[in-house]
Order: sequence, then structure tokens, then C-alpha cells
Amino acid sequence: MNVTTDLSGVMASGMCIGCGACEMADGSVRVALNPRNLIYEPQSAGSQAAADVCPAVAVDYAGLQEYLFPGAEQGPYGVVRSVHLAQSTDLDRNMKASSGGLIKEVLRSLLSSGDIDGVIALDHVEGIEFAARLVTDPDDVDNLPGSIYHNLSQVPALRLLRDTPGRLAVVAIPCQLEGLYSWVRRFAPELRERITVTIGLLCGWQYSHHSINAMGEYLGYDPADITDISYRGGGPVGKLTVRTDDGREYSASRRVDFGYQVAFDRHFNTTRCHVCVNHGNFLADLVVGDAWLPSTVFTRTGISLVVCRTELAEQVMSRLVASGSCIATQVSDEEIRESQTDRVVFGEFAYAYAEHLRRLGGHVPELHGPNEGHGTLKPRRQVARFHRELVRKQALMANRRYGYMKLRKATLELRGYVMRYVRWFLVRILRVKSLSGKRREIPRERLSRFR
Ligand SMILES: Cc1cc2nc3c(=O)[nH]c(=O)nc-3n(C[C@H](O)[C@H](O)[C@H](O)COP(=O)(O)OP(=O)(O)OC[C@H]3O[C@@H](n4cnc5c(N)ncnc54)[C@H](O)[C@@H]3O)c2cc1C
Repeated sequence: MNVTTDLSGVMASGMCIGCGACEMADGSVRVALNPRNLIYEPQSAGSQAAADVCPAVAVDYAGLQEYLFPGAEQGPYGVVRSVHLAQSTDLDRNMKASSGGLIKEVLRSLLSSGDIDGVIALDHVEGIEFAARLVTDPDDVDNLPGSIYHNLSQVPALRLLRDTPGRLAVVAIPCQLEGLYSWVRRFAPELRERITVTIGLLCGWQYSHHSINAMGEYLGYDPADITDISYRGGGPVGKLTVRTDDGREYSASRRVDFGYQVAFDRHFNTTRCHVCVNHGNFLADLVVGDAWLPSTVFTRTGISLVVCRTELAEQVMSRLVASGSCIATQVSDEEIRESQTDRVVFGEFAYAYAEHLRRLGGHVPELHGPNEGHGTLKPRRQVARFHRELVRKQALMANRRYGYMKLRKATLELRGYVMRYVRWFLVRILRVKSLSGKRREIPRERLSRFR
């Protein structure tokens, strides 16, 4: 177990996620962008108070789940009451959204019904800067962006929560909620009752700003000229779109553009994503992600996978279906696993990689989720190779050698790159798991109403 008295280990290891809990717990700490690794992190080591709430030091998953869902059974997917596939019936909303447009429908319903007074959710500020703001009008919800994949400071969300009276919904990625609730439970327990509901995103990873810079080199824009950026929308996968101040627009398919595969490969993730075990957002009441399933591969507009952890979450889902805002079908917990893969859901890589880093010495967050022990840990050789590659690529990024990284992907890394597509084709299109009897697909007629 770490004996951590401040954030010096977090800073040295580059494990910060930008949640901002340290800044709230210790007034001497400021979270800002590090010009070398291009992630947000504390500018000073702060005190024990900052370390106590930092998710890059430790997260008490069992304690926080009990705090949030008292008495509920905690399984490998966290606390689960029901799982659904769902899609907004509003074509425009669905097309603009990242997956099924569920989050916007949920927020509109919560605000119109008077369940809540406001929503704290991420919005665009300028350039590549995004920050949480308060939304109180249901018609304003559609102005919120889709998924933003680059690393951000989430401090504004915490400040809004502290300063806004009333009943609130908070939209957040998993590590953001880890920081938020660690801080609330420890230092601001009076805020707990303001949070009526949390809408969590499933989250595989986020990226340092090196991804945006590398794409600038490949597509021909200057990152300093960016006025807006979006990653999704216009279909189930969507494309990266960057607008610059001369009115030009640059875009790249997220599935097939080679430059995108280089700049958004996992070595560009914030370092803590590699040891994260909470992709399923264990602390959110209602969790929304993409339904990446063989049975939903036909969708032209995107379908969401929704996990309800509380009664209110289930009530909201029923209300959306009853009012005709959404269509939904209940599925088994197994679909979480299939959609996200065992590697992610059970932390097969993350637990093995954290162990490898511990053996090497240095700071490693203590993350032991309800999924620990449910998967097959990746072999030591594999995580050691990944680590060597990560260290090498982080040095290349720090020296802005993005052109060389592209060349590397096309030569040294070509085999792994091609295998990813082969795996996708075998599992999602040819459905090899169903053909070999390893899994049962959702019957087609249950999805016939989905676009
Ligand atoms: C960094 C990141 C990684 C993700 N990884 C996965 C994954 O691996 N697998 C998967 O199934 N799904 C993942 N998702 C979730 C997925 O991309 C969709 O956000 C989700 O399915 C909801 O889609 P929607 O159509 O309902 O929401 P949208 O209508 O697209 O709404 C998105 C909402 O999320 C908020 N938001 C966007 N970005 C952020 C952010 N960075 N931090 C906090 N709030 C934000 C916006 O304010 C908006 O309210 C990820 C999302 C993010 C932000």
C-alpha cells in the first residue's frame, strides 16, 4: 500500500487525470497544463489533504460504492440493477450525439420533470478548451458537445457543485467521479445531497494534447489556430473535425484514417489510463456508452449501452420509453462485457501493468475495483514490452517527433495495426464467438425498431 503524504509521486509519474479534487481539498494546489507531456496536473505537491482525495494516489471503490449505493450488491460490473440498449427517437439528436443520444434525452427529461434544478456538464469554451457549466433549461441541453477525448481540467465542475444550491445532475467520466466523490465524502459531505443523480460515461481512455498536435502535422493545421474540435457525431463512429480561425475545416475518419490511428493510439493516452480499472464508471447512477456489439453493427446513427445502478436511473429510462423519446430493450450484464471486452471490463491489462510498474519502483496508484480477479491478467512479457514502447513513444512525443511516429506505425508496428482490424472483422462482422457457441447474440427482432 502507498504511504503517500503529498502529490509528488503523482507529478513524477505523470499519473494525474485533471479531476481537480486536490485543488478543492488544498487551496495551495493549482491544476494546469504541463508543457512537456501536455496533460493537466498539479503545479505543486500540496499536502496530505490533497493526496487523500487524489484518484492517482488511491480510490476506495468498495467504500465509495457503499457510500453511494448503501446495501446494494457489488458484482464485477459494480452495482447493476439493469442493462439496456437504447436510442433517442429524435433523428437529429441521435445523429449529433456520440452514441445513441441517450445522455441528452436523460438530461432533458430530468430538467423538464422538475427532478433536478440544474445539470453540471462539459461545454465548449474556446479553441480546445472545454469546461463544465450549469444548464437549467431543457432546450439548452442540445448545445452541449458530444464526447471530448482530450485531457481537461475538471476543476470547474467541482467549483460549480460547491457553489450551486439545489438538486443537481452531474455528467462525468469515471476518474472525474472518483475525484469528486473522494473530495465530497472527505471534505464536503454536505454536498452529497445536492447530487440527485450522476450520468456517467463509459470510458476507455482519454488523450494528452499531443494527439491534437500530431493530427495538426498530419492534416495541415496549426493547433494554435483551432477554434473548435469534435470527435463524434454523424454516425456510430464519427469523425474528428477541427475548425480553425481562417474558417477552414479539417476532418479525419476515426476508423480508417491512418494519421488518426497514429495520433490516437493508446500510447498517446494520459498515463493513468493504462492502470485504470474503472472503465465501467462504478460510481455513476446511470452509465452510458457505445453498444459495440455484433448485433448492433448495422446501426447508421449509433446505439447506446445503458447501465442503471439505482431506482431513479431505471425510472428515468422507463419514462423516456413511455414518452416516446427513446426506444430501449433490456439485455443481460454479459453485453457490458461483450461491448467493452474482457481486457477493459476486468482490467486484464491494467492490473498486470500496475503490478509491473510496482516491481519497477516509483509511484503507482492503488486501484482495486470490484472487477479484480475476474479476468485473466495479461502476461508479464506483454506488459513489459508495452512499457518499453510507452517510454520510447512518450519521449518522441515530448520532442514533437510526430512525423517519425507515423513512419514507425507504417513499418515496425504494421503487424499489430493490421491485426486490430482483423480482430474487429472476426468478432463484430463474422461473429466468430456466436458461431463457435461462446455467446448468444441478441435476437434481430428485438432490435428491429432501432435505426
Ligand atoms: C474520454 C471518453 C472516453 C470514452 N470511451 C468510451 C469507451 O471506451 N467505450 C464506450 O462505450 N464509450 C466511451 N465513451 C462514451 C461515449 O463516447 C459516449 O459519450 C456515450 O456513449 C454517450 O453518448 P450519448 O450519445 O448519449 O451522449 P452525447 O449526446 O454525445 O453527450 C455527451 C455528454 O457527455 C459530456 N462530456 C463529453 N465529453 C466529456 C468529458 N471528457 N468529460 C466529461 N463530460 C463529457 C457532454 O457534456 C455531454 O453531456 C467515452 C467518452 C469520453 C468522454
